[in-house]
Amino acid sequence: KNYVKNNLIQKSPVKWDDIGGLEDVKRLMMETIVISALQKPKSIQPWKGVLLFGPPGTGKTLLASACAGSLDATFFNVKASSVTSKYFGESSKIITALYEVARELSPSIVFIDEIDALTTKRGEGVSEASRRMLSTLLTELDGFQDKGKDLLVLTLSATNTPWDLDEAVLSRFPRRIYIPLPDKKATKEIIKINTKGIELNIDLDEIAEKCVERLYSGRDLKNLCQEAIWNMIRDVNKNLYELAKLPYNELRKRKLKTRALTNN
Ligand code: ATP
Repeated sequence: KNYVKNNLIQKSPVKWDDIGGLEDVKRLMMETIVISALQKPKSIQPWKGVLLFGPPGTGKTLLASACAGSLDATFFNVKASSVTSKYFGESSKIITALYEVARELSPSIVFIDEIDALTTKRGEGVSEASRRMLSTLLTELDGFQDKGKDLLVLTLSATNTPWDLDEAVLSRFPRRIYIPLPDKKATKEIIKINTKGIELNIDLDEIAEKCVERLYSGRDLKNLCQEAIWNMIRDVNKNLYELAKLPYNELRKRKLKTRALTNN
């Protein structure tokens, strides 16, 4: 439990507006968490598990953080492969502890990234630790109804290779949402989100078109913006290396110069 509390819990500052594009997906996720939280007749059962699948870097982790951020819920961010590799024999105990803590600190969002690392369709190449961790996870997902009637604990899982998942996993995640690469409109939004506070003097349409052609993901776009911002900073602040000689307290008093980003 201490391991879970110290290592797997994050505070999520992410809001829905921090996510560019994915309008339909955002609406589905909002729907899911709102219906989970509201008082309702017994026959209406909210989704307990949602599977997000799609290419890398398209915002799956971001969406899970936004669910937590919008509810001010406790956010558990678990990369399946890192739990099994670090805590070989203990990995299934960690899952049990994780759900105990999640119920204690409800509302909670549990995000299991790379769930495919725990299973393959043919059961080949999966370690005993992964197998045990998966079986505990599935038991927790099944048993939840009885243990935490009034608690909101939503499990979101993510994979880039949904075809590797077996039926045992898929059936626990009846709500499956495809997270696509950004289209032109989404690309423009993601560029704006990642250049907040900096004036843009660029042909956003032209750049977005090129990015879509090259199949840029949200992560690629973020990196592109970061690169452009660094180049601009280097250009405008010729004295950076002089400033490197100053102590921290002096540096805190100075302001970094910026200017509009241009096409170059
Ligand atoms: P992976 O499958 O590789 O784990 P992922 O789908 O979980 O990737 P994220 O970690 O959510 O991707 O995205 C990586 C980064 O890319 C985010 O931190 C964010 O800065 C940026 N990003 C990705 N998609 C979007 C988006 N739709 N809007 C804004 N930023 C995005």
